[in-house]
Amino acid sequence: MRSRTLRGAAVAAGLCVLTSAQPALAAPVDHGKPRYSAGAPSVGDPYFPDEGNGGFDVRHYDIAFSYDPAAKRMDATTTITAVATQDLDQFDLDFRGPDISSLTIDRHPAAFRREGQELIVTPRPKLKAGTSFTVIVKYAGTPPVITDPDDSIEGWVPTEDGAFVPGEPQGSPAWYPGSDHPTDKATFTFHATVPEALTAVGNGQLLSQRTSNGRTTFVWDSTEPMATYLATVTIGKFQVAQSATRSGIPIYTAVDPQLASRSAATVARIPDIIEYFSSIFGPYPFASAGAIIDRAPDVGYALESQTKPIFSSAPDLSTMAHEIAHQWYGDSVSLGRWSDIWLNEGFATYAEWIWTEHNGGATAQQTFDSAGNYGRAATSAFWQTVTTDPGPVDMFGNVPYDRGAMTLHALRGKIGDAAFFRLLKEWAAKHRYGNVSTADFVREAQKVSGMDLRSFFDVWLFQKGKPSAW
Ligand SMILES: [Zn+2]
Repeated sequence: MRSRTLRGAAVAAGLCVLTSAQPALAAPVDHGKPRYSAGAPSVGDPYFPDEGNGGFDVRHYDIAFSYDPAAKRMDATTTITAVATQDLDQFDLDFRGPDISSLTIDRHPAAFRREGQELIVTPRPKLKAGTSFTVIVKYAGTPPVITDPDDSIEGWVPTEDGAFVPGEPQGSPAWYPGSDHPTDKATFTFHATVPEALTAVGNGQLLSQRTSNGRTTFVWDSTEPMATYLATVTIGKFQVAQSATRSGIPIYTAVDPQLASRSAATVARIPDIIEYFSSIFGPYPFASAGAIIDRAPDVGYALESQTKPIFSSAPDLSTMAHEIAHQWYGDSVSLGRWSDIWLNEGFATYAEWIWTEHNGGATAQQTFDSAGNYGRAATSAFWQTVTTDPGPVDMFGNVPYDRGAMTLHALRGKIGDAAFFRLLKEWAAKHRYGNVSTADFVREAQKVSGMDLRSFFDVWLFQKGKPSAW
């Protein structure tokens, strides 16, 4: 998890000691006096300059809403539990959702205003560093569809029978206020009320499902830290099935009935994929698993929503393997800056390669050599994008995926299978629920292999051009 500022706690502890040591005559200590200022309006990620916020750390989101698909209307109350990391007289949340009817902080009504995706809040009383506080935001209306720099859509996407809800890289503020950057992970609880013919499927485990007066409330609990973009509550008519892996991880799948027959063979392999990746990457990082398979043709992609990847159409087996691999690489081990997206996509794509080989298809070496990968001509525009800086328009283009996966396969050849697979496991274990950078990976690879890999990574990750020697 992101390093938390302990300044407030340390100051408080220091005051305590001073007070008890000098009970009668101690003058007020000046260094403990709060110095209030506004939290930063973002975390400064150049790809999405408004994402995230400074001055506090979110610990938990409780998102309760009812949704009427016919009217496309949500009526919601989001409760955010956070800890101030500086003395705050103002802070921002990220929110692009419908009109807010009330906002309180520790039950005191708080003034707020909205500018773009910033929800600027003025807490009164002010918040001292180190204190935990609770923000309750009530809002109602139609949550928006968000269009990304590459023209794909995300956020709250209405479907024929509900809503499809992917959040990468900036869709979460469509339906709940928060600190929308992967560096501020938190736990989540969802209470979703929908017409009783529908199912609302969230991350984590189903705590309860109760129907009254024609509406059903589903309560989902995501107990491991989660990046905001990985949250979903996707709603529709679903065929639900519950099973478990051989090692006992519960699996909840929700499949649109019209896609059931086309998805069945892929869904049946989910336990095998989890078991195989667990043997290579280390233990599955979450308490539950599953998938949501829906019809959202305007979305046209899948996303590795934590514990339950979401698919906008019937997935093939390698796409399922890709999204499950992300549970280790992307979801549990998350990037710290969007420019490092290859750490998500290169790993998940390489996982597809090795799953395909394991499943009796092309070997990873054959996939590396193929026309769509290293077989591309040196003159191809493909080689002119730097893997570690694709830009916000091409962050989900071919390079972070394919050149990222090629980088890992080339690294495997360079350091040998034993060191490579030890590296994959250590990367997942050491940074579980945390945030990482490319520099961290380079350092880890050199440590595990005992080799100087600077020129290797230079040609694969930091330079344009088709690598010819490494
Ligand atoms: Zn992916």
